[in-house]
Amino acid sequence: MPTDANPAFDVAVIGGSYAGLSAALQLARARRRVAVVDAGSPRNRFAAASHGFLTQDGRPPGEIAAEAKRQLLAYPTVHWRHGTATRAAGAADDFVATLDGGERIRARRLVLAFGIVDELPPIEGLRERWGRSVFHCPYCHGYELCRGRIGVIATGAMSLHQALMLPEWGEVTLFLDGAFEPDAGQRAALSTRGVGVESARVARVAGTATVELADGRRLAFDGLFVAPRMRPASAIAGQLGCALEEGPLGPCIRVDAVKATSVPGVFACGDAARMAGSVALAVGDGALAGVAAHRSLLFP
Ligand SMILES: Cc1cc2nc3c(=O)[nH]c(=O)nc-3n(C[C@H](O)[C@H](O)[C@H](O)COP(=O)(O)OP(=O)(O)OC[C@H]3O[C@@H](n4cnc5c(N)ncnc54)[C@H](O)[C@@H]3O)c2cc1C
Repeated sequence: MPTDANPAFDVAVIGGSYAGLSAALQLARARRRVAVVDAGSPRNRFAAASHGFLTQDGRPPGEIAAEAKRQLLAYPTVHWRHGTATRAAGAADDFVATLDGGERIRARRLVLAFGIVDELPPIEGLRERWGRSVFHCPYCHGYELCRGRIGVIATGAMSLHQALMLPEWGEVTLFLDGAFEPDAGQRAALSTRGVGVESARVARVAGTATVELADGRRLAFDGLFVAPRMRPASAIAGQLGCALEEGPLGPCIRVDAVKATSVPGVFACGDAARMAGSVALAVGDGALAGVAAHRSLLFP
C-alpha cells in the first residue's frame, strides 16, 4: 500500500460491502488505483438470506458480497485492506486515511461507504433474533412470513408508518410500548388498515417471535418488526467536515445527485448516505459515486 513515502491512490474507498464494492468496480474498470478498506461487518450479516436484489434473491448476504469481492480483486489496480479506518483528514488530491493498525493510506479522492449501525431498543431477546425473526424492512423479509401474524414493537412515530404498511404482508398488531401515543386520526388510520393496538409494555421477546407483555400475556407471531435508530458506522464523515442530514431515524451523510458530499473530493454512497437503504440501492449508489469520483479526477 502507498504510504507517505509512496504515490497516493487515485481513490480510497472506506467500507467494502455492496456500495463500496460497486464504487470500486467502476474505478477499477477505469484503470484507476483504488484502495478498499473494509472492516467486514455489513449491516445484513445477521440475516440468513438477502431478498430483492436481481439475480441474487434468497442468497446468503455474505455470498453476494464475497462473489463481488472476488470479481473486483481480479482487477490489478485494486488493493484490499481488511481493517477499520479510524481517521481521515486532508483535502482534495491529498487525503490521508489512518487504519486501526496505524497504516496510513493517501488518496486523491475518498468514497465513504461504511454503512450504518442499527440501534435496537433494549428489549430482552430482541437482538438475538435480529435478521432471523425480527426485521425492519418488509420488502426484504415480509414475503417469507406468508401473510401470517406480525407484531410491530414501536420505537417512535416511524413505527406508525411500519404498522400501516405491514398489513400488505399479514395480520398486524402494534405494540405501543410507551414509545408514542397515536392521536385520534392515527388510531382511525390503524383501524382502517385492520391493525390491532396493544398498550401494555413489552417485557421480552421469546421463542421464534413471541411477545411477552408486562401484564403476563404471551402473544405469538410469525415475525416482528422494529424501526431502529440509525447512525453512520464511522465518525470519519464528521472528521472531514461533511454535512449530515437528519432523518426520521437518525443522521446520514448529505450528498447530491452524483453522491458528492459537501466536501470537495469526498463522495458517499450506500446506507451511510441515504435515509433508507437496500442492497440494490447501495449497489446503484456505489456505481454513481465511483463514476463521479473518477470524473472529478478528470475534470476537477
Ligand atoms: C437484518 C437486516 C437484513 C437485511 N436484509 C436485506 C435484504 O434482504 N435485502 C436488501 O436489499 N437489504 C437488506 N438489508 C439492508 C442492507 O443490509 C443494506 O442496505 C446494505 O448492507 C447497505 O450496503 P452498504 O454497502 O451501504 O453498507 P454495509 O453493507 O453495511 O457495509 C458497510 C461496510 O463498511 C465497513 N466499515 C464500517 N466502518 C468502517 C471503517 N471505519 N473502516 C473500514 N470499513 C468500515 C463495514 O464493516 C461493512 O463491511 C438488511 C439489513 C438488515 C439490518
